[in-house]
Amino acid sequence: MDDAVVVGAGPNGLAAAVALARGGATVRVLEARDEIGGGTRTAALTLPGFVHDVCSGCHPMGILSPFFRTLDLDAHGLRWIRPPASVAHPLDDAPAVLLRRSLDETARELGADAAAYRRLFAPFLRDPHGLLADLLAPLRLPRHPIAMARFGLDGLWPATTALRTRFRAERARAVLAGCAAHSVLPLERPITFAVAMVFALTAHVEDWPVAAGGSQAITRALASLLRTLGGRIDTGVAVRRVADLPPSRVVLFDTSPAQLADVCEPVLPARYVRRLRRYRYGPGAFKLDWALDGPIPWRDPRCLEASTVHVGGTLDEIAAAESAVWRGEHSERPFLLVVQQSQFDTGRAPAGKHTGYAYCHVPAASSVDCTDAIERQIERFAPGFRARILARHRTAPADFARANPNYVGGAITGGVADLTQLFTRPVARVDPYSTPNPRVFLCSAATPPGGGVHGMCGYFAARSALRRLERLPETASPFASGGRS
Ligand SMILES: Cc1cc2nc3c(=O)[nH]c(=O)nc-3n(C[C@H](O)[C@H](O)[C@H](O)COP(=O)(O)OP(=O)(O)OC[C@H]3O[C@@H](n4cnc5c(N)ncnc54)[C@H](O)[C@@H]3O)c2cc1C
Repeated sequence: MDDAVVVGAGPNGLAAAVALARGGATVRVLEARDEIGGGTRTAALTLPGFVHDVCSGCHPMGILSPFFRTLDLDAHGLRWIRPPASVAHPLDDAPAVLLRRSLDETARELGADAAAYRRLFAPFLRDPHGLLADLLAPLRLPRHPIAMARFGLDGLWPATTALRTRFRAERARAVLAGCAAHSVLPLERPITFAVAMVFALTAHVEDWPVAAGGSQAITRALASLLRTLGGRIDTGVAVRRVADLPPSRVVLFDTSPAQLADVCEPVLPARYVRRLRRYRYGPGAFKLDWALDGPIPWRDPRCLEASTVHVGGTLDEIAAAESAVWRGEHSERPFLLVVQQSQFDTGRAPAGKHTGYAYCHVPAASSVDCTDAIERQIERFAPGFRARILARHRTAPADFARANPNYVGGAITGGVADLTQLFTRPVARVDPYSTPNPRVFLCSAATPPGGGVHGMCGYFAARSALRRLERLPETASPFASGGRS
């Protein structure tokens, strides 16, 4: 019997497994699909010779993850490729704004707002890794209370309010609105400015990298490390009922709260299961992957220097597009997250050809085909783009949900991360990774600190499970405590 079983081999499941194994536990991972990776999978979605990131494409949180930074993932095949700039934000009648590692160079892009931009970020760059360790953690006493207090006071504001009051001109407002839109929230909601600040801050610490060969290299490296620590991974094993679980002392679920409720209903209190079922997942995503005949022909060619391009124009336009999604509407001019992997990782496409993807947020479970709206937005800033498309692959919310039941309604970030669900995910508990059953834990992006490929949910869940393992009897079989404890 293993000490721990982890259900799901996404970045959080594998991070949990590695942390458990490093803590001395024996671990077995069960993955429903025939391959590991979850939201980091890589596949040939279009033409022979083109390699695509099925979900995550760009990894500021991966390269800066406080847990991943303690692991020698390079020795297990992970190579980050850094672009010259993290983000490009094209505008209609002006040069694009480039978010670069250098605070000064970035500030110089912002004209009249240069000083205000420098003033906002400079204090957080004194010890950015310390601050990120506090930000990518569950609610706890911060290790860097002064920086966190300052960050919290600034970040609590809605992005729209903060951007209109702090900055005078469109360039700073637009580039930070693009960062805020990673929240998948209306930008009029509290704490959306914190999301803008986190993403911009990461860009001043690291260039948002792509993983050489595809994002799956991240989870392949975690899996390889896990095996050297004695862990086992079984693919093609879907866990649908408690009876599907092999004996172990604890079980960690890298799944949605809904799946945890479905599988563990017999061994969890009914009240807790009801709370899991009330968890909110938020909007879905509609994504296009392209095989291209050449690079994206941005009107401002400097956009090719960035791994990520935020396409959506001004603050007002981006805010309108994201709010529309929450009203159940599809914007004519959606906000797009574009990643141009082959620009930096030449192995992703045949010589002279390119890959790229873009996705926009859409109402949950939407069945609207956004292909035209997405490609029109890119054409707006890159005339001639459509003529470069050799092949495209569409992924609609239903496709995301079919490929991975964690993506409920096509929601891709593990659930709404608003003020009421950011730290209380999946439900309000002192230890959000634990459940009322002492043997059952949740370790997915539906726990703090939430979505993204950083493994921190898995790491903190593993720490919680390791503490429990110290107290559980060695010989216990799963749920031996009678389940409804
Ligand atoms: C289109 C898209 C773009 C994204 N872009 C980025 C990005 O650029 N950067 C970034 O950092 N993040 C990005 N993300 C988010 C990121 O991919 C997720 O937040 C992250 O993968 C969550 O990791 P996880 O381990 O919690 O869950 P997942 O990655 O969803 O992994 C869960 C795993 O568990 C398996 N599983 C589920 N249920 C069961 C079951 N019952 N039995 C057995 N196995 C099961 C699944 O098959 C899957 O392999 C993106 C996501 C999407 C979809």
